Amino acid sequence: MNPFECSNQLINHLDAPSRKLVLKHSDVLHLSAGTVLSQPGDVSDYVYFPSGCVVALMLQQSEEKGLEVCLVGEEGMLGVETMLGLNESPYLIVVQSEGMVLRVSTELLMKMIARYPAIEQHLHLYAGVIMNQLAQSSLCGHFHVVQARLARLILMFHDRLHSNSMQLTHGLLADMLGVRRVGITKAAGALQKSRTLRYARGHIEILNVKALEAVACSCYAIDKATYQLILND
Ligand SMILES: [Zn+2]
Repeated sequence: MNPFECSNQLINHLDAPSRKLVLKHSDVLHLSAGTVLSQPGDVSDYVYFPSGCVVALMLQQSEEKGLEVCLVGEEGMLGVETMLGLNESPYLIVVQSEGMVLRVSTELLMKMIARYPAIEQHLHLYAGVIMNQLAQSSLCGHFHVVQARLARLILMFHDRLHSNSMQLTHGLLADMLGVRRVGITKAAGALQKSRTLRYARGHIEILNVKALEAVACSCYAIDKATYQLILND
């Protein structure tokens, strides 16, 4: 993959020498939906920069129950905690939408950071964004209704996939929002009735993005504004 094909915004916003260096030391992988990149407590030897795929960081309450706390696509990276010096990740990290990813050895990234402070500065800004998203996610789960949270989640996929179509089953959405499937059925039914989206057999087609934004909870706009801050610096 050359720099022009890499769609990861963190890498593409680095200065040219830093970007060239990271790309030179990256492996390009294609990940299928459902791939588990890391289990809670795992020590990862790699960090990942999505370039087409969308990955969820989930906290697990039990074997069956999880809660999506952060969605990462081409705007971000996986392995922030490793970069900050923490060896273990508390998250179950699962690919939710297939696509390419750039994989870099943590050891190599740390060496690059030592040589190019611009990389460290940029990735630390991203770490700050992730902290905000985690805090927002916690507030969202407590105070916002399922329909508004579902609209937010679908918009987050929309922004990362650059597409109005996506494959997301009831079960997956219920897991990610930490609610029962019946809650998803009800919320998705209301969005279908208002012709905001079409949903059949796990396939979602957004029919009206503006209407979906109007239904989404305020967390969506807050997260988006935080990302704009670092990507437009
Ligand atoms: Zn919310």
